[in-house]
Amino acid sequence: MTEKPKRQRPQEQDPNVRRHNFDAVESNLTAEQVKAEVARCLHCKNARCVTGCPVNINIPDFIAALKEDKLEKAGDIIRETSFLPSVCGRVCPQERQCEGKCVLGIKGEPIAIGALERYVGDNTDAKAEVAAETGKKVAIIGSGCAGITAAADLRKAGHKVVVFEALHKLGGVLRYGIPPFRLPRKFLDREINSLKALGVEFHTNVVAGKSVTIKQLKEDGFDAIFICSGAGLPKMLNIKGENLNGVYSANEFLTRVNLMGANLEENPTPLKTGKRAIIVGGGNVAMDAARVAVRVGFESVKIVYRRTEAELPARLEEIRHAKEEGVVFQFLHNPVELMGEDGFVKTAKLEIMR
Ligand code: SF4
Repeated sequence: MTEKPKRQRPQEQDPNVRRHNFDAVESNLTAEQVKAEVARCLHCKNARCVTGCPVNINIPDFIAALKEDKLEKAGDIIRETSFLPSVCGRVCPQERQCEGKCVLGIKGEPIAIGALERYVGDNTDAKAEVAAETGKKVAIIGSGCAGITAAADLRKAGHKVVVFEALHKLGGVLRYGIPPFRLPRKFLDREINSLKALGVEFHTNVVAGKSVTIKQLKEDGFDAIFICSGAGLPKMLNIKGENLNGVYSANEFLTRVNLMGANLEENPTPLKTGKRAIIVGGGNVAMDAARVAVRVGFESVKIVYRRTEAELPARLEEIRHAKEEGVVFQFLHNPVELMGEDGFVKTAKLEIMR
């Protein structure tokens, strides 16, 4: 019996090396790997992968274009529905979306749709047709995933689009939340630049509601305002000791490092580091925080999760990467109190869960 062709996997940096740097963990598939991977796709008529994609990218057709060596055509097909292939190919939870639905996954391994999407995104130029100007003007508050996706669609429809970002750099959570080893900044910048090339206007350091109000935007002639300011408010544990120095919400911790460069080179943004860190939670943000904690120099990094390993909500790949980089997991435990010394957190009291 002939063996079925295997799913192609991108090369990864050695965990012992990458735990000391912020460079991309995974490289792109090679052209040969892409060829081998697309050959596995069945070009299903009623493609389940498309129904699994939140924006219904025409996956079978972009893969078919790759089979015919038509890389630019593959890029055009993806960008009909998503202007962010380099980003989505890296950060979407494909195992729960397109790949989770791929028919090949029923008895074997699904097509590596995410890896193919990012290969196409990284190696093609973003081109899009802009419809005739409508004379309408839309303000978008926030330049994260929702903001830049809306900006692309609205601009393509011929509207004037102005994006207002509160921080000094564009990208929202893609920049302050997702670490560069998962989403290298050059690809994020490239996708934002392609929006600028379409004619989308961006303004940084504008805090909607303070620097400019909704009323003012309306007076300035905006016909519509899309508020996509993200979910920045942390949900704290409400336990004793969580106001101690050295206790961070994931957002604050990640922003200090990812956006402000804390603890990296000669950067003035402070970040309390030490020997041991615990991260409470088991989602992708927890994995990001743990893997960043490893890289900024904590000697021991532990994820404390109140449920079991089977219930971890993070992507399997992120969990594997975290383990490979030395993150330890403590399941069925939850902090009930944080204790400190001289105002700084020192230890945590955990309760055992069932
Ligand atoms: Fe290809 Fe899988 Fe989509 Fe079918 S479901 S078209 S095999 S990627």
